[in-house]
Amino acid sequence: MTIHTHHSDRKLHMELTLRPVDLATVRRITRSQLHGWGMATTADDILTVVNELLTNVLDHVPSKRCTLTLEHKAYLLHVRIRDDCPGMPVRQRPRASRTTGRRLALVDTLTHGGWKVVRPPDDVGKEIHCLFDVSPAALPTGTVKGGDIVREIFRYGLTHPDRLPQVVRHTRRACDHLATGESCTPWCLAISIGAVVRDGDMACVLEGTLTQEDSSPAAAARRIITRGTGLRLDAGPATAPPLLIEPRPAGASDCTSPRDRLHFWYLFETPPGSPKPSKSNGPWTPVTDLPPTPLQALFPTSTPGRC
Ligand SMILES: [Zn+2]
Repeated sequence: MTIHTHHSDRKLHMELTLRPVDLATVRRITRSQLHGWGMATTADDILTVVNELLTNVLDHVPSKRCTLTLEHKAYLLHVRIRDDCPGMPVRQRPRASRTTGRRLALVDTLTHGGWKVVRPPDDVGKEIHCLFDVSPAALPTGTVKGGDIVREIFRYGLTHPDRLPQVVRHTRRACDHLATGESCTPWCLAISIGAVVRDGDMACVLEGTLTQEDSSPAAAARRIITRGTGLRLDAGPATAPPLLIEPRPAGASDCTSPRDRLHFWYLFETPPGSPKPSKSNGPWTPVTDLPPTPLQALFPTSTPGRC
Protein backbone atom coordinates (compact mmCIF):
# COMPACT_ATOMS: atom_id res chain seq x y z
CA MET A 1 0.00 0.00 0.00
CA THR A 2 1.25 3.48 -0.81
CA ILE A 3 -0.61 6.35 0.79
CA HIS A 4 1.09 9.71 1.19
CA THR A 5 -1.01 12.22 3.08
CA HIS A 6 -0.57 15.99 3.36
CA HIS A 7 -2.79 17.86 5.77
CA SER A 8 -3.44 21.51 6.19
CA ASP A 9 -6.24 23.17 8.11
CA ARG A 10 -8.31 23.40 4.90
CA LYS A 11 -6.95 20.62 2.74
CA LEU A 12 -6.33 16.88 2.79
CA HIS A 13 -4.28 15.51 -0.09
CA MET A 14 -3.44 11.84 -0.65
CA GLU A 15 -1.25 10.25 -3.28
CA LEU A 16 -2.45 6.71 -3.71
CA THR A 17 -1.39 3.51 -5.37
CA LEU A 18 -4.48 1.51 -4.65
CA ARG A 19 -5.23 -2.08 -3.82
CA PRO A 20 -8.77 -3.12 -2.92
CA VAL A 21 -7.85 -3.51 0.77
CA ASP A 22 -6.68 0.15 0.89
CA LEU A 23 -10.15 1.58 0.38
CA ALA A 24 -11.05 1.10 4.03
CA THR A 25 -7.90 2.95 5.13
CA VAL A 26 -8.61 5.87 2.79
CA ARG A 27 -12.19 6.03 4.04
CA ARG A 28 -11.00 6.06 7.65
CA ILE A 29 -8.52 8.92 7.04
CA THR A 30 -11.14 10.84 5.08
CA ARG A 31 -13.87 10.34 7.67
CA SER A 32 -11.56 11.55 10.42
CA GLN A 33 -10.79 14.73 8.46
CA LEU A 34 -14.47 15.37 7.64
CA HIS A 35 -15.36 15.09 11.32
CA GLY A 36 -12.49 17.47 12.11
CA TRP A 37 -14.08 19.98 9.74
CA GLY A 38 -17.47 19.59 11.44
CA MET A 39 -19.04 17.76 8.47
CA ALA A 40 -20.34 14.75 10.39
CA THR A 41 -23.84 15.10 8.92
CA THR A 42 -22.68 15.01 5.29
CA ALA A 43 -19.73 12.65 5.82
CA ASP A 44 -21.61 9.53 4.71
CA ASP A 45 -22.54 10.99 1.31
CA ILE A 46 -19.03 12.32 0.76
CA LEU A 47 -17.44 9.01 1.75
CA THR A 48 -19.76 7.10 -0.57
CA VAL A 49 -18.75 9.27 -3.51
CA VAL A 50 -15.05 8.99 -2.67
CA ASN A 51 -15.40 5.24 -2.36
CA GLU A 52 -17.21 4.90 -5.70
CA LEU A 53 -14.66 7.03 -7.54
CA LEU A 54 -11.69 5.19 -6.02
CA THR A 55 -13.32 1.87 -6.93
CA ASN A 56 -13.56 3.20 -10.46
CA VAL A 57 -9.79 3.83 -10.36
CA LEU A 58 -9.22 0.24 -9.20
CA ASP A 59 -11.41 -1.09 -12.00
CA HIS A 60 -10.30 1.11 -14.90
CA VAL A 61 -6.89 2.72 -14.28
CA PRO A 62 -4.08 0.31 -15.17
CA SER A 63 -1.47 1.96 -12.91
CA LYS A 64 -3.94 2.11 -9.94
CA ARG A 65 -2.37 5.48 -9.14
CA CYS A 66 -4.42 8.55 -8.31
CA THR A 67 -4.52 11.58 -6.07
CA LEU A 68 -7.42 12.41 -3.79
CA THR A 69 -7.79 16.00 -2.61
CA LEU A 70 -10.45 17.36 -0.27
CA GLU A 71 -10.53 21.10 0.15
CA HIS A 72 -12.80 22.91 2.57
CA LYS A 73 -13.97 26.15 0.96
CA ALA A 74 -16.45 28.56 2.42
CA TYR A 75 -19.72 26.57 2.51
CA LEU A 76 -18.51 23.89 0.13
CA LEU A 77 -16.32 20.84 0.13
CA HIS A 78 -14.40 20.40 -3.11
CA VAL A 79 -13.30 16.82 -3.78
CA ARG A 80 -10.90 16.03 -6.63
CA ILE A 81 -9.74 12.63 -7.80
CA ARG A 82 -7.11 12.62 -10.48
CA ASP A 83 -5.63 9.66 -12.30
CA ASP A 84 -3.25 9.18 -15.21
CA CYS A 85 -5.69 7.34 -17.47
CA PRO A 86 -7.01 9.42 -20.37
CA GLY A 87 -10.25 7.45 -20.85
CA MET A 88 -13.16 9.62 -19.79
CA PRO A 89 -15.91 7.91 -17.83
CA VAL A 90 -19.25 7.99 -19.61
CA ARG A 91 -22.46 8.08 -17.69
CA GLN A 92 -24.70 5.36 -19.04
CA ARG A 93 -28.10 4.05 -18.31
CA PRO A 94 -27.64 1.87 -15.25
CA ARG A 95 -27.44 -1.77 -16.24
CA ALA A 96 -26.19 -4.74 -14.31
CA SER A 97 -23.16 -5.07 -16.57
CA ARG A 98 -22.17 -1.38 -16.44
CA THR A 99 -20.95 -0.67 -12.94
CA THR A 100 -19.31 2.63 -14.00
CA GLY A 101 -22.64 3.98 -15.21
CA ARG A 102 -24.29 3.03 -11.92
CA ARG A 103 -21.46 4.63 -9.94
CA LEU A 104 -21.68 7.91 -11.82
CA ALA A 105 -25.45 7.98 -11.37
CA LEU A 106 -24.86 7.63 -7.63
CA VAL A 107 -22.23 10.41 -7.69
CA ASP A 108 -24.68 12.58 -9.59
CA THR A 109 -27.39 12.01 -6.99
CA LEU A 110 -25.22 12.53 -3.92
CA THR A 111 -23.58 15.71 -5.28
CA HIS A 112 -26.93 17.05 -6.62
CA GLY A 113 -25.33 17.31 -10.05
CA GLY A 114 -22.29 19.19 -8.73
CA TRP A 115 -19.61 17.08 -10.36
CA LYS A 116 -17.63 17.14 -13.57
CA VAL A 117 -14.80 15.34 -15.33
CA VAL A 118 -12.18 17.71 -16.68
CA ARG A 119 -8.96 17.34 -18.60
CA PRO A 120 -6.21 18.78 -16.33
CA PRO A 121 -4.29 21.82 -17.62
CA ASP A 122 -1.21 19.65 -18.33
CA ASP A 123 -3.45 17.31 -20.39
CA VAL A 124 -2.31 14.18 -18.52
CA GLY A 125 -5.08 11.83 -17.43
CA LYS A 126 -8.31 13.22 -16.06
CA GLU A 127 -9.66 14.82 -12.94
CA ILE A 128 -13.11 14.38 -11.42
CA HIS A 129 -14.35 17.33 -9.37
CA CYS A 130 -17.25 17.02 -6.94
CA LEU A 131 -18.85 19.73 -4.84
CA PHE A 132 -20.76 19.19 -1.63
CA ASP A 133 -22.84 21.83 0.06
CA VAL A 134 -21.72 22.06 3.69
CA SER A 135 -23.35 25.42 4.43
CA PRO A 136 -25.29 25.90 7.65
CA ALA A 137 -28.83 24.60 7.24
CA ALA A 138 -30.75 27.17 9.29
CA LEU A 139 -30.44 30.22 7.02
CA PRO A 140 -33.56 31.79 5.52
CA THR A 141 -34.41 30.83 1.96
CA GLY A 142 -34.97 33.22 -0.93
CA THR A 143 -31.85 35.32 -0.43
CA VAL A 144 -28.40 34.76 -1.86
CA LYS A 145 -26.16 32.86 0.52
CA GLY A 146 -22.44 32.32 0.64
CA GLY A 147 -22.91 28.74 -0.55
CA ASP A 148 -24.76 29.97 -3.65
CA ILE A 149 -21.93 32.34 -4.48
CA VAL A 150 -19.23 29.73 -4.00
CA ARG A 151 -21.21 27.17 -6.02
CA GLU A 152 -21.54 29.53 -8.97
CA ILE A 153 -17.84 30.37 -8.83
CA PHE A 154 -17.02 26.67 -8.83
CA ARG A 155 -19.43 25.81 -11.62
CA TYR A 156 -17.87 28.56 -13.68
CA GLY A 157 -14.42 27.23 -12.82
CA LEU A 158 -15.37 23.69 -13.81
CA THR A 159 -16.39 24.90 -17.26
CA HIS A 160 -13.17 26.95 -17.54
CA PRO A 161 -10.56 24.81 -15.75
CA ASP A 162 -7.76 27.18 -16.80
CA ARG A 163 -9.41 29.99 -14.82
CA LEU A 164 -10.40 27.85 -11.84
CA PRO A 165 -7.39 28.64 -9.60
CA GLN A 166 -7.72 32.41 -10.04
CA VAL A 167 -11.37 32.59 -9.13
CA VAL A 168 -11.52 29.97 -6.39
CA ARG A 169 -8.96 31.78 -4.29
CA HIS A 170 -11.69 34.33 -3.57
CA THR A 171 -14.19 31.82 -2.25
CA ARG A 172 -13.06 31.79 1.37
CA ARG A 173 -14.38 35.32 1.70
CA ALA A 174 -17.91 34.47 0.59
CA CYS A 175 -20.32 35.29 3.40
CA ASP A 176 -23.94 34.83 4.46
CA HIS A 177 -24.58 38.48 5.23
CA LEU A 178 -27.19 39.00 2.52
CA ALA A 179 -29.13 36.02 3.87
CA THR A 180 -28.87 37.17 7.47
CA GLY A 181 -29.48 40.83 6.67
CA GLU A 182 -26.23 41.96 8.26
CA SER A 183 -23.80 44.34 6.59
CA CYS A 184 -20.68 42.97 5.00
CA THR A 185 -17.35 43.43 6.69
CA PRO A 186 -14.28 44.82 4.89
CA TRP A 187 -13.09 41.21 4.54
CA CYS A 188 -16.14 39.81 2.76
CA LEU A 189 -16.17 39.01 -0.94
CA ALA A 190 -17.83 41.79 -2.94
CA ILE A 191 -19.96 40.51 -5.84
CA SER A 192 -21.27 42.77 -8.58
CA ILE A 193 -23.41 41.70 -11.50
CA GLY A 194 -23.14 42.44 -15.19
CA ALA A 195 -26.20 41.59 -17.24
CA VAL A 196 -26.19 41.59 -21.02
CA VAL A 197 -29.25 41.00 -23.15
CA ARG A 198 -28.81 40.41 -26.85
CA ASP A 199 -31.18 40.84 -29.73
CA GLY A 200 -29.42 39.82 -32.92
CA ASP A 201 -26.62 42.33 -33.51
CA MET A 202 -27.76 44.66 -30.72
CA ALA A 203 -27.02 44.30 -27.04
CA CYS A 204 -27.83 46.09 -23.83
CA VAL A 205 -25.26 46.06 -21.03
CA LEU A 206 -26.36 46.82 -17.48
CA GLU A 207 -24.59 46.50 -14.16
CA GLY A 208 -25.75 46.29 -10.58
CA THR A 209 -25.27 44.66 -7.22
CA LEU A 210 -26.71 41.70 -5.37
CA THR A 211 -29.54 42.66 -3.05
CA GLN A 212 -31.66 40.90 -0.46
CA GLU A 213 -34.47 40.45 -2.97
CA ASP A 214 -32.28 38.23 -5.17
CA SER A 215 -32.39 34.47 -4.72
CA SER A 216 -29.19 33.94 -6.72
CA PRO A 217 -26.67 35.95 -8.76
CA ALA A 218 -28.44 34.77 -11.94
CA ALA A 219 -31.76 36.03 -10.53
CA ALA A 220 -30.09 39.38 -9.80
CA ALA A 221 -29.00 39.59 -13.43
CA ARG A 222 -32.58 38.95 -14.62
CA ARG A 223 -33.91 41.59 -12.24
CA ILE A 224 -31.36 44.13 -13.50
CA ILE A 225 -32.35 43.46 -17.12
CA THR A 226 -36.05 43.75 -16.36
CA ARG A 227 -35.60 47.04 -14.48
CA GLY A 228 -33.32 48.51 -17.13
CA THR A 229 -35.15 47.46 -20.28
CA GLY A 230 -38.68 46.43 -19.30
CA LEU A 231 -38.04 43.01 -20.87
CA ARG A 232 -39.54 40.08 -19.00
CA LEU A 233 -37.02 37.28 -19.05
CA ASP A 234 -37.96 33.70 -18.36
CA ALA A 235 -37.41 32.66 -14.76
CA GLY A 236 -34.78 30.15 -15.84
CA PRO A 237 -32.80 27.97 -13.46
CA ALA A 238 -32.21 29.35 -9.96
CA THR A 239 -28.50 28.80 -10.27
CA ALA A 240 -26.62 29.02 -13.52
CA PRO A 241 -22.91 29.55 -13.80
CA PRO A 242 -21.99 33.00 -15.06
CA LEU A 243 -20.54 33.11 -18.55
CA LEU A 244 -17.63 35.14 -17.28
CA ILE A 245 -16.23 35.95 -13.86
CA GLU A 246 -13.93 38.90 -13.86
CA PRO A 247 -11.82 39.85 -10.85
CA ARG A 248 -11.97 43.60 -10.44
CA PRO A 249 -9.57 45.88 -8.65
CA ALA A 250 -10.86 47.74 -5.62
CA GLY A 251 -12.20 51.19 -6.44
CA ALA A 252 -10.17 54.29 -5.70
CA SER A 253 -12.56 55.23 -2.89
CA ASP A 254 -11.92 52.06 -0.94
CA CYS A 255 -8.29 51.30 -1.62
CA THR A 256 -7.86 50.60 2.10
CA SER A 257 -10.47 47.82 2.01
CA PRO A 258 -9.09 44.30 1.69
CA ARG A 259 -12.29 43.09 -0.03
CA ASP A 260 -11.87 40.82 -3.02
CA ARG A 261 -14.12 41.87 -5.88
CA LEU A 262 -15.65 39.60 -8.48
CA HIS A 263 -17.92 40.69 -11.29
CA PHE A 264 -20.29 37.99 -12.60
CA TRP A 265 -21.40 38.43 -16.22
CA TYR A 266 -24.63 36.85 -17.49
CA LEU A 267 -25.93 36.85 -21.04
CA PHE A 268 -29.58 36.57 -22.07
CA GLU A 269 -31.47 36.62 -25.35
CA THR A 270 -34.47 38.88 -25.73
CA PRO A 271 -37.71 36.93 -25.35
CA PRO A 272 -39.70 36.25 -28.54
CA GLY A 273 -42.08 39.07 -29.44
CA SER A 274 -40.05 41.83 -27.74
CA PRO A 275 -39.94 45.22 -29.48
CA LYS A 276 -37.00 45.49 -31.86
CA PRO A 277 -34.22 47.52 -30.23
CA SER A 278 -32.51 50.30 -32.13
CA LYS A 279 -29.51 52.50 -31.57
CA SER A 280 -31.73 55.39 -30.54
CA ASN A 281 -33.55 53.12 -28.12
CA GLY A 282 -32.05 53.80 -24.68
CA PRO A 283 -29.18 51.61 -23.58
CA TRP A 284 -28.97 49.43 -26.70
CA THR A 285 -25.75 49.36 -28.63
CA PRO A 286 -24.41 47.32 -31.57
CA VAL A 287 -22.55 44.22 -30.38
CA THR A 288 -19.60 45.34 -32.50
CA ASP A 289 -19.30 48.51 -30.39
CA LEU A 290 -18.90 46.61 -27.12
CA PRO A 291 -15.44 46.74 -25.57
CA PRO A 292 -13.40 43.71 -26.66
CA THR A 293 -12.47 42.86 -23.05
CA PRO A 294 -14.35 41.37 -21.38
CA LEU A 295 -17.65 41.75 -23.18
CA GLN A 296 -16.69 40.30 -26.56
CA ALA A 297 -15.80 37.12 -24.68
CA LEU A 298 -19.51 36.66 -24.02
CA PHE A 299 -20.21 36.57 -27.75
CA PRO A 300 -17.82 33.91 -29.03
CA THR A 301 -19.95 33.02 -32.03
CA SER A 302 -20.99 36.50 -33.09
CA THR A 303 -17.58 38.10 -33.43
CA PRO A 304 -18.02 40.45 -36.36
CA GLY A 305 -16.30 39.39 -39.56
CA ARG A 306 -13.63 42.02 -39.92
CA CYS A 307 -11.91 40.61 -42.98
ZN1 LIG B 1 -20.45 39.81 3.98
